[in-house]
Amino acid sequence: MTLGSAPLRLAPTRDDVLVMKFGGTSVGDAERIERVARHVMAAKMKGFKVCVTVSAMSGETNKLVGLTETLGGGDVSRDADYDAVVASGEQVTAGLLALHLKSKGVPARSFQGWQLGLETDESHGAAKITNIPEDKLLASLDAGEVAVVAGFQGIAPNNRISTLGRGGSDTTAVALAAALGAVRCDIYTDVDGVYTTDPRIVSTATRRKALSYEEMLEMASVGAKVLQTRSVGLGMAYGVPIRVLSSLGEPEDTDEGTLITAEEDIMEQEVVTAVIPSTGEAKISLLGVPDKPGRSALIFQLLADAGVNIDMIVQSPARAGSEANMSFTLSERDLSLAMEKLTLAKAELGYDDLVANQNVAKVSVIGIGMKTHTGVAAKTFEVLADRQINIENISTSEIKISVLIAAEYTELAVRALHEAFGLSTAKA
Ligand code: ADP
Ligand code: ASP
Ligand code: MG
Repeated sequence: MTLGSAPLRLAPTRDDVLVMKFGGTSVGDAERIERVARHVMAAKMKGFKVCVTVSAMSGETNKLVGLTETLGGGDVSRDADYDAVVASGEQVTAGLLALHLKSKGVPARSFQGWQLGLETDESHGAAKITNIPEDKLLASLDAGEVAVVAGFQGIAPNNRISTLGRGGSDTTAVALAAALGAVRCDIYTDVDGVYTTDPRIVSTATRRKALSYEEMLEMASVGAKVLQTRSVGLGMAYGVPIRVLSSLGEPEDTDEGTLITAEEDIMEQEVVTAVIPSTGEAKISLLGVPDKPGRSALIFQLLADAGVNIDMIVQSPARAGSEANMSFTLSERDLSLAMEKLTLAKAELGYDDLVANQNVAKVSVIGIGMKTHTGVAAKTFEVLADRQINIENISTSEIKISVLIAAEYTELAVRALHEAFGLSTAKA
């Protein structure tokens, strides 16, 4: 099936097919892989044909990335040979799981991305899936095998191995579910669902039983790393129900986790469902920019041409005909490149001064109920003001308010907002 801006559910739904994905911690050692096999066998016992996708063992991808940097002389993540290295972690776990299943009498076989013809574009290090022919997978499932697919990888048009960006096995899983028309995509990880905020930061975080694709998409895109953003986008585009649940217990003790599904299928809609911190942000301010038509276009075109993504733009009003100040946020990773481009173009852009600030963090308040309820922005600002936290930039969407604050206040802000919106005790 071709993945692109496609309509909902191209593949016929197959109620007996389930996709299960196991992340790095879940396959972190031999004992855990044995437990993964028990989860797979339990799904088989329920009558499902099972397609599994796995990540590399935890820590493995980081180790491989480190080696590419040491021997490649820096960040080489756009090089096809980077992908040749980092895709190998998933090859190992797919093979090990298939071997173990067979040792337990369960027919299984492993597939690497290229063996399935899982096609991607040529953006090495951050490739997008373009096509998944389902024939080989269906043949394997129909032959009674568990098809174990190495996550995170595919094959690019240049006939080289490609990888899907960090956390990309989530995207493999949802794309496989879409291509197969699976009844659901179950994402097994080291937490038992999606929480109102990262449970490792705020101990009073509560688990959601259900979230809409839109909410999860906003959560993932502002930094809740529990799912790769693109996996949620694919789930939404193809109508694949996604469930996030824990792999750390035995199948019979595993709770239902969090179901991510269409808005209309969610019974209890809260106004605010999550408060998500996002670090790794930076801010650039241009001071004394001539207040003339076309100046913003020049600045942002320059950055777009350099491949730098911009968020949260603020322009201070200038007195007619005088100068304005402009600031925007971007990923810390892109800061030096953006500063270099803007410095080189100083004469053309005509600003007086350029200031970079890495000491910032974004905190986002998210909830589908914002579509119909007012007052969330006012309450967000009030809670922060009560704690003397200054808001530097603001951006909003229909279901999200993000504020940029000094990084040192991130935890305080998240805790305060989480509490103020009643999430510490929410049950939904
Ligand atoms: P995997 O290796 O299984 O892909 P990840 O480490 O990518 O797992 O994602 C799981 C982690 O996501 C959790 O351990 C948790 O710390 C983090 N996380 C961040 N935000 C949230 C959230 N809102 N709900 C649940 N987990 C979250
Ligand atoms: N192993 C890859 C990573 O760590 C992909 C994944 O785990 O989803 O980013
Ligand atoms: Mg992950």
